[in-house]
Amino acid sequence: MKQSISLADVLGEISVLVRPHFGKGKPAHYIPQLAAVDPRKFGMAVVTVRGEEYVTGDADEPFSAQSITKLFSLGLALNRIGDEVWTRVGKEPSGTPFNYLSQLEHEQGVPRNPFINPGALAVTDILLDVVAEPAKLVRDFMGMLATEPLTIDDEVAGGEIATAHKNRAIANLMREFGTIQHDPETVIDAYCRQCAITLTCRQLARAALPLAAGGFSPVVEETVFPQRLARRLNALLLTCGIYDSVGSFAYRVGLPAKSGVGGGIVAIVPGQAAVAVWSPELDRFGTSVVGAYALEHFSQLTNCSVL
Ligand code: GLU
Repeated sequence: MKQSISLADVLGEISVLVRPHFGKGKPAHYIPQLAAVDPRKFGMAVVTVRGEEYVTGDADEPFSAQSITKLFSLGLALNRIGDEVWTRVGKEPSGTPFNYLSQLEHEQGVPRNPFINPGALAVTDILLDVVAEPAKLVRDFMGMLATEPLTIDDEVAGGEIATAHKNRAIANLMREFGTIQHDPETVIDAYCRQCAITLTCRQLARAALPLAAGGFSPVVEETVFPQRLARRLNALLLTCGIYDSVGSFAYRVGLPAKSGVGGGIVAIVPGQAAVAVWSPELDRFGTSVVGAYALEHFSQLTNCSVL
């Protein structure tokens, strides 16, 4: 990153620059507990590979990680099972919304990538072969990387389990094709619990830092992914991490990133830092409006785009 001002000043400037963008989106409404979050929240954290931490706004306030957890469940599945994961899920951008159903029917139940809901459900199904409670495995892995224990919000999980009609349809269709092998209800339960992991921007940036450091966590001083896997996860983030607006996000920000409908986005600056933002108002693709602007300003002010 070649910014002429310090990262602390960069974050200060961003917190002013994003202000005009509040009110342009809406918090996720289909998970009841997420609809109730204060839409004006904004937090941002940068953790560098040297272990320095910079934060602004509500960076230490917990929020619902939602699909950001898919990055960590995929990493765990690839670590434990290896390339066999790719027999059940593809590596291509979907060009469709995260919970799109009909593409699956055309593609024999094999999801386009691990970050859309069908792909994440396949990864959950794979993890169910390894552990009884994949959500706890993912929570504990993320917590270990964040150096603080994380929680699963039972109310958020329960709210989503009760309203996950579309995800249930997806899981049942995949069960029919054999790309999900456990009882669809067990998979939905585990998936929704994983999505309900709660964490702060600071914790998220720490947890994602191994992707900026070749698989090594400078925070816990441990290699958690082989270097090649870290590079591959970044490639998947860059091409599939922001669903069907991944192209315009790459155009604007130019960094591998993963969004979640809780309003979080985590972005990776390879070799340098992990950046986490949170602001609950979403665009129609399920990406935080203010979060995306914050990351756009960050990559401009620090000149850190990978593209
Ligand atoms: N739990 C959410 C769902 O399955 C996750 C979507 C997201 O965060 O992008 O709809």
